[in-house]
Amino acid sequence: MADWLDLGQDCLCYPTRVHFMMFDRTIRHCRQCGAPVARRLPDDGDTKLRAICTACHTVHYENPLNVVGTVPHWGEKVLLCKRNIEPRKGKWTLPAGFMELGETTSEGAARETTEEAGAQFIMEDLFTVMSVARVGQVHLYYRARLTSDVFDPGHETMEARLFTEEEIPWDELAFRTVKETLEHYFADRRAGHFSTHAFDIA
Ligand SMILES: [Zn+2]
Repeated sequence: MADWLDLGQDCLCYPTRVHFMMFDRTIRHCRQCGAPVARRLPDDGDTKLRAICTACHTVHYENPLNVVGTVPHWGEKVLLCKRNIEPRKGKWTLPAGFMELGETTSEGAARETTEEAGAQFIMEDLFTVMSVARVGQVHLYYRARLTSDVFDPGHETMEARLFTEEEIPWDELAFRTVKETLEHYFADRRAGHFSTHAFDIA
């Protein structure tokens, strides 16, 4: 699981060129002045090596990215989108993507659901929070109650379709965080009670 190619399993980067940038997010040049950076300890007591500009001495911090999405549900069914873009083109996913600056996690999840599925829905509670430390990401999924079963997917999606638990293409899911979220969703649904699940993806 730990090799390079498997990053795609948990990484929701798209399009492809962004994906490859994400494979190596290492900062090499200063965002302030463009000079090369060096890896060293800042002199403020920080204990981690940081990318520090060799010219203007700006310290650059590299932090995880948030991926936000929804579990859109309609009766006993859940909406999945067939990806029309790499990575994992042709595989099924819950609507999700990178959070943008200036939006909340819930707003980002709703935006992705509108963009990828063209769905009508009401946002509900936070459902899963998954740390994917290996790729420097945190994935958050909200439940969302569909108010229509008519979808108008955008260019990132080949097909948007409702699935019962039995119909879910478990072997054709794009990402492990999607599989984990769906498993928790149907387990909670059977139990008749939804809660928030926070866990780590190794
Ligand atoms: Zn600089």
